[in-house]
Amino acid sequence: MATFKEFRNNVKPNWCPGCGDFSVQAAIQRAAANVGLTPENLAVISGIGCSGRISGYVNAYGFHGIHGRALPIAQGVKLANRDLTVIASGGDGDGFAIGMGHTVHAIRRNINMTYIVMDNQIYGLTKGQTSPRSAVGFKTKSTPEGSIESTLAPLEIALASGATFVAQSFSSDLKQLTALIEQGIQHEGFSLINVFSPCVTFNKINTYDWFKENIVNLNTVEGYDPSNRIQAMTKLMETNGMITGLIYQDSSRKSYENQIVGFRSEPLAQQNLKISEEAFEGL
Ligand code: SF4
Ligand code: MG
Repeated sequence: MATFKEFRNNVKPNWCPGCGDFSVQAAIQRAAANVGLTPENLAVISGIGCSGRISGYVNAYGFHGIHGRALPIAQGVKLANRDLTVIASGGDGDGFAIGMGHTVHAIRRNINMTYIVMDNQIYGLTKGQTSPRSAVGFKTKSTPEGSIESTLAPLEIALASGATFVAQSFSSDLKQLTALIEQGIQHEGFSLINVFSPCVTFNKINTYDWFKENIVNLNTVEGYDPSNRIQAMTKLMETNGMITGLIYQDSSRKSYENQIVGFRSEPLAQQNLKISEEAFEGL
């Protein structure tokens, strides 16, 4: 057991003051402590973008990967050491543009890990271009006349791809975000958590106030049943994806690694250690 402070390190985040990603960092640290993890059994793997820096800001194993490739690395880490709790993270550009192929296949593969997307609906690191999550008409340097492409709906895509855990939260709601990350970690399978994480520097449309006005918390929706996939899809379509909370969970399906006949429960890293120890014994 560790406290959330033990998941802090001495690296000072260089996010802009007010960036939504600070809350995601705090929520990961709190959730890790609340589910009883210690830094040595957590790995945070990230892609490229402002949000990708998060792997350096949590006291745990970390790997800052390449653009759109957090998920292949994270899946490899998990399969090599099943004892690790693995969190992959990145932004909407990272996961839903260049990395979208990996995202869809990781969802349908259902390896036991948690993927947290910091969705600010813009490319922040490169100083403000239209992302797959930007709204139609969104004006940036890359779309000065306004975006004419449809906005990607990642959670509908996740449901259609066989997701077993789909949730959404908001950087202003640290309590909900922490609770959802805890649930995601405890879910057996791939957990997708999309977080509305405002970019205060370059996105002057999708601000904290804008999200507060437009989000519907599923806790306030009477009779909502997160085990009902059709209801989840309907609610997402009805609200244009502007809901937060646990949207869908299927606890009946086993994770990828728990369905492979003969897959050793022992982490690969330990297997390899034993093999090398045995090899040395014979010398
Ligand atoms: Fe956050 Fe935007 Fe600043 Fe990047 S540019 S650190 S996303 S506020
Ligand atoms: Mg982004």
